[in-house]
Amino acid sequence: MKVCMIGTGYVGLVSGTCFAEMGHEVICVDVDKRKIDVLNKGAIPIYEPGLEELVKRNVDAGRLSFSTDTREGVDRSLFVFIAVGTPPKDNGEPDLSSIEQVAREIGTAMRDYKIIVEKSTVPVQTGRWVRTVVKRFSKHSNEFDVASNPEFLREGSAIKDFLYPDRIVLGVESKRAEEQLLELYKPIDAPKIVTDIASAELIKHASNSFLSTKISFINALSIICEQSGADVIKVAEGMGLDKRIGRDFLNAGAGFGGFCFPKDLKAFIGISAKLGYDFRLLKEVENINEEQMLRVVKKTEEAIWNLRDKRIGILGLAFKPNTDDMRFAPSITIIKAFEKEGATVKAYDPVATDRARTIMPDIEYCQSPYDAAKDVDALVLVTEWDEFAKLDLKKLRETMRQPIFVDGRNLFDPVKMKELGFIYTGIGR
Ligand code: NAD
Repeated sequence: MKVCMIGTGYVGLVSGTCFAEMGHEVICVDVDKRKIDVLNKGAIPIYEPGLEELVKRNVDAGRLSFSTDTREGVDRSLFVFIAVGTPPKDNGEPDLSSIEQVAREIGTAMRDYKIIVEKSTVPVQTGRWVRTVVKRFSKHSNEFDVASNPEFLREGSAIKDFLYPDRIVLGVESKRAEEQLLELYKPIDAPKIVTDIASAELIKHASNSFLSTKISFINALSIICEQSGADVIKVAEGMGLDKRIGRDFLNAGAGFGGFCFPKDLKAFIGISAKLGYDFRLLKEVENINEEQMLRVVKKTEEAIWNLRDKRIGILGLAFKPNTDDMRFAPSITIIKAFEKEGATVKAYDPVATDRARTIMPDIEYCQSPYDAAKDVDALVLVTEWDEFAKLDLKKLRETMRQPIFVDGRNLFDPVKMKELGFIYTGIGR
């Protein structure tokens, strides 16, 4: 089947490539000419394990191409997916201007029946606006359908998540769109939930809000564990074995970040307010997360005494392992808080350094974790990259000025760390 993916970012590039891998003919479109040039030269503009090879294979097979021309993409395809960014505005509401822009372009370009599918995360009722705008700008009185197909992939395991998802959600308003979308996704063996557009849009926001709630719950619980001498990892294990609860997303740590949870949570609080409900529960989820990021700074201060003029090493900058994505990364909040207290910061990340440099040009970037540890008063682990689990801890400790280790992801065993001579503190244990 013929697919046009408008927006070739983390979601669009992975989704387009995976559709090609499933045997469909895909054209990925983006306004960012540099991105399209990189892709046309056989490289990829983001870090995502396994993606480069998959792109190459499908380009070579003639099933995947890249363009800056929306008209060409729309013309060639039955499905037109919208996968552009929906970043938060200053007031926390999602900025939907790219969605509107794309809807206009599709309306103008469309010459026969299309199924226009929202893949971006959008507030409930966006589908109605997409329909209105496409219709207003449509030169010919073409028939078209609007559908919602939210994406649940996670950066770092995006290909697997796309090809082997827990479920596929299809919000449709016609039998024709339903049948075509089911055909498109036929190669994927997963439960398919077919519903109306508003419910599909809500499923995405509700899922992300619920997962954020789980994380903030365990983070709040981690404080009780610390105060009572319990171990949050054991508590999570004991809770997680209950099938109604589940162990996933019960890892206490330095808070959640990324382009999805913080922004979708804020957006959902805003959407709810607009619809007349004050979602106080989610506001608290947000507050707990903010506090949690700053708790690692507080813990460092408690171990050092004064932060002024101290040197802090940060291990991990990306918002989670296996991605170079720095959007809303907890490391940014944490580093700013250290700097505010008068400390200087140096940091190491296996892949996110270039992106981090554009956000925080003033800190020192290191070539290795050992460089980041050299002569520091404390090391703070913010992202649990595999590489860190394999560190030579003795060597690390020997390079530090003071052996203070704040483990913001509970990557290490507290007993072993203490045996190695670290003044070690984790989260909730
Ligand atoms: P991104 O910023 O990586 O990609 C968006 C792309 O859209 C950019 O390349 C941008 O140049 C392009 N674009 C913007 N306006 C355009 C236009 N008018 N025409 C063509 N291209 C245009 O963002 P992303 O992380 O891929 O997220 C996209 C959407 O998917 C968001 O709504 C996000 O919330 C949602 N989402 C993201 C993830 C994730 O893990 N990143 C997961 C699920 C859902």
